[in-house]
Amino acid sequence: LNVVVAVDGTSGSGKSSTCRAVADRLGLRYLDTGAQYRAMTWWMLSNGIDVHDPAAVAARAQDPQIVSGTDPLAPTITVDGTDVSVEIRSDEVNGAVSPVSAVPEVRARLVDLQRSIVGDGGIVVEGRDIASVVCPDADVKVYLTADPAARAARRALENGGADVAATEASLLARDKIDSGRAVAPLTQVDGAVHIDSTDRTLDEVIELVVGLVME
Ligand code: C5P
Repeated sequence: LNVVVAVDGTSGSGKSSTCRAVADRLGLRYLDTGAQYRAMTWWMLSNGIDVHDPAAVAARAQDPQIVSGTDPLAPTITVDGTDVSVEIRSDEVNGAVSPVSAVPEVRARLVDLQRSIVGDGGIVVEGRDIASVVCPDADVKVYLTADPAARAARRALENGGADVAATEASLLARDKIDSGRAVAPLTQVDGAVHIDSTDRTLDEVIELVVGLVME
């Protein structure tokens, strides 16, 4: 299958779990673009760059070497050869990833990287601007959402029983910043199928997306 499946949506909508399962089921590669923005952010923080200074972030946007492994059962992300899969999920990165992602030089670099990985297809790609900006010609476009409370509950569980209210506040804060920039819209994309996962199980959402690919 040479298809490109593009999945846009908010944090905690079940994007990652859905995309990985769909890729595994269909024998496709998997790319988590959020992990790349997180890796870029982790590198900025580690190198003492002020993440709230767009010019400082832009000046270093070309420096980190970010490599994404695309096995859906064991996705990896390395920066300059170091695996940062765990580090990129920290509160520090959560708090800094939106301003770093808003810097045009960061987006240009990562969108290029993402397009080179997508190549001829055979991949499920997730992120907030995949169907709209990175792969507007994707064969299947999905826009996945869920109510904030459901998203926070899932994300808190993933993070080993973190506080749900604090997790919801953090998600909503990121949504607000993310939706305030034109390049990564949280609104519905042309031609995308909108799936609300609030009252659906993960398996039901996976079935829906697999069904769209096989249509
Ligand atoms: O999907 P995830 O929550 O891991 O994404 C982390 C952050 O990375 C988002 O809040 C957003 O700021 C940024 N992001 C983005 N464009 C993407 C993927 C993620 O701006 N394609």
